[in-house]
Amino acid sequence: MDVHAIIVAAGAGERAGGGVPKQFRTLGNRPIYRWSVNAFLSAPQIGRVCLVLPEASLASPPADLPSDERLIVVAGGSSRTASVRAGLDALRPGEKDIVLIHDAARPGLNEDVIERLIEALEGADAAAPALPVTDALKRQEEAGLRNIPRDDLFRIQTPQAFRAELIQHALEADGSSFVDDLAAVEALGIRVATVAGSERLSKITYEEDIPRMEKLLNAPASQMRVGTGYDVHAFAPGDSIRLCGIDIPHDRRLAGHSDADVGWHALTDAVFGALALGDLGDHFPPGDPRWKDADSGVFLRHALMLAADRGWALSSCDITLICEAPKIKPHRAAMRQRTADVAGIALDLVSLKATTTEGLGFTGRREGIAAQAIAVLSRLQG
Ligand code: MG
Repeated sequence: MDVHAIIVAAGAGERAGGGVPKQFRTLGNRPIYRWSVNAFLSAPQIGRVCLVLPEASLASPPADLPSDERLIVVAGGSSRTASVRAGLDALRPGEKDIVLIHDAARPGLNEDVIERLIEALEGADAAAPALPVTDALKRQEEAGLRNIPRDDLFRIQTPQAFRAELIQHALEADGSSFVDDLAAVEALGIRVATVAGSERLSKITYEEDIPRMEKLLNAPASQMRVGTGYDVHAFAPGDSIRLCGIDIPHDRRLAGHSDADVGWHALTDAVFGALALGDLGDHFPPGDPRWKDADSGVFLRHALMLAADRGWALSSCDITLICEAPKIKPHRAAMRQRTADVAGIALDLVSLKATTTEGLGFTGRREGIAAQAIAVLSRLQG
């Protein structure tokens, strides 16, 4: 007896936005359907895996599919039932084999649930993960809302597991279409077992389901963003320069439209970089009179507000100032504290370093100061 899997990914569900069917939206750096492909291929219990894609997408099949000879890709039909049939036709399972049929829109599949389903089929003909209904249920009737007892109600998830001969027989009738695969066998009066489902297995239907599922699956790439920034300002005649919010007496000043705070400009650009929102010049055009002599703290706070609006917060940063003079070290503690205060984060999350270029290049010739920064943003909780 072998265990095979069918992943139904042929639907047109566009309620999750993005202009593509939801199974092709990205979750944690890979398309949603890929989560299920990987889960099945890495489960030792599973033999062959059949991925059922929309016919149109097979003209240029996804280049990112793993090259694994156990994986078969076929075109789906016009209904879910037709797509499952296409999968069964491609797999040609033996009568005693087990087939697990899974919705690609449920990326939280793992080996535990696969194991529970296979075990359940030792004493049943079909099995599915189920969760109790926790919200109150009401039916709209003429006289008003009426409560529906929920003690014997379940939310059914996928994969749904079947003996191959049973599901093939149930789907034989041409033109039949079912809401899910259990519905096809329920009519046959067979024994269906339920196993513990989980929130991980919830279905992605709407746009807001994607970040919720990313959190639930702890999808690493989506929990962190990184950006780098680099800036240079030239010296001009003057008596003070501003670096990371601190005014330092010097025999020169830094030339610039704003206060020319090269350290915070680099950091602000790093935040914009992490958000893929362009650069400082896009947000604060140098010719704009509003930013003449502006405090660069305004730029940094604005970038962090845009980050917060998108659900991100600065979780650490590291700035390097590159110059022969002035000496940075005596001011380093104050610069770190000022940066932490403006960014609203703890002091130990702000690193500030300084280096010379050993007399080489424009900084070595004392023509100006360069700064580079890296910013790490983390997903805001809640
Ligand atoms: Mg600048």
